[in-house]
Amino acid sequence: MDFSLTEEQQMMLEEIKKVCEEKIAPRAEEVDEKGEFPKENIELLANMDLLGLVIPEEYGGLGMGFLTWSFVGEEISKACGTTGLIFGANLLCIYPLMVFGTEEQKKKYLPRLAKNKLAAFALTEPEAGSDAGNVKATAKLEGDHYIINGRKIFNTNGGEASIYIIIAATHPGQGPRGLSAFIVEEGTPGFTIGQKFNKMGFSALPNVELVFDNCKVPKENLLLKERRGFRVAMETFDTGRIGVGIGALGIAEAAYEAALKYAKERVQFGKPIASFQAIQHILADMATEIEAVKLILYKSAWLKDNNQPFEKYASMGKLKASEVAMHVSTKAVQVFGGYGYMKEYPVQRYMREAKLFEIIEGTSEIQRSVIANFLLKGR
Ligand SMILES: Cc1cc2nc3c(=O)[nH]c(=O)nc-3n(C[C@H](O)[C@H](O)[C@H](O)COP(=O)(O)OP(=O)(O)OC[C@H]3O[C@@H](n4cnc5c(N)ncnc54)[C@H](O)[C@@H]3O)c2cc1C
Repeated sequence: MDFSLTEEQQMMLEEIKKVCEEKIAPRAEEVDEKGEFPKENIELLANMDLLGLVIPEEYGGLGMGFLTWSFVGEEISKACGTTGLIFGANLLCIYPLMVFGTEEQKKKYLPRLAKNKLAAFALTEPEAGSDAGNVKATAKLEGDHYIINGRKIFNTNGGEASIYIIIAATHPGQGPRGLSAFIVEEGTPGFTIGQKFNKMGFSALPNVELVFDNCKVPKENLLLKERRGFRVAMETFDTGRIGVGIGALGIAEAAYEAALKYAKERVQFGKPIASFQAIQHILADMATEIEAVKLILYKSAWLKDNNQPFEKYASMGKLKASEVAMHVSTKAVQVFGGYGYMKEYPVQRYMREAKLFEIIEGTSEIQRSVIANFLLKGR
């Protein structure tokens, strides 16, 4: 397994690191404090063609792999978790279009997404979270259109995105087998944005309700086939978990680096707190956990790029990275002591943000079930 980059990719990553450190990271606190969508950050990513990183060149993207995507996502998330999650949520629409889209669908949507348009993926509903097959939104074929009714909640990028993948039941009451996936554009009649959710962290990340009231979608916007929506969702999540894990990794690294710096600067009992073994051990655990998580996540991305089974490792990477981000950020607050609890330092933000990764795209409990399923089947 080789995680090295080509010289060209290395140069690109250096450039991205520079932009992240100089432009994105300094704004992270303000983004969280104001709770305003970080438009300038997304424009920066679009100007560097990063929104289309994995989109094939023939559709206007850079045609790079998921390992490169992971390195880039890690830098972005380390600089600003919100921007990292917007970048990651985009992948949840780009990926199924790349894999399941017809030639017409790819030609129509991928170039826009490679340029500057944002995207979203909507499955979750009030009664369908972990129980993803329990979707109640319906899509009924009438002539040349599907009529979609229902609502989606918590949708990331909702309201800012131009293109959405929506999971709805074409065969209601038949569980996962009755679900289908649709491409829905912003502004489609009958599609509106409902309430905005108020969260404990990621205040600037758009998370909204999507409302479909007799929303008329052309029948050519069906993705793959009727009844294949659950498969579209599950395969999208397999890859998306690499992205979620990478987001968590970026936050863990930011928390660790902040704690290391502070431990060397903060003096108590006449010496830097980094000289106390208790603090040194916290730092050693943080660095070790981060390194271990990197390897699982890079491995899953490498396997994916090399067309080998990666799903189990993506799930392990997401599970471990989110728990490491939670642990590392909590310990970072501890290293900062009372100051860690204050808004003037970023570690409290990392701790509030880390929690989300244990919940989205399959909670830690669901990841453990997914992993156990692979193990029990001997895969
Ligand atoms: C900020 C944010 C952004 C999100 N973005 C999106 C998005 O863009 N698109 C989208 O479709 N969804 C999105 N979601 C939804 C997210 O994926 C779900 O919240 C998540 O899958 C959990 O579902 P739930 O909230 O309904 O929890 P529930 O499924 O109600 O789970 C509650 C608790 O029960 C546990 N539990 C449930 N079933 C089992 C089981 N079988 N075994 C063991 N334990 C179980 C869970 O682990 C959890 O601890 C987002 C959520 C948040 C908070």
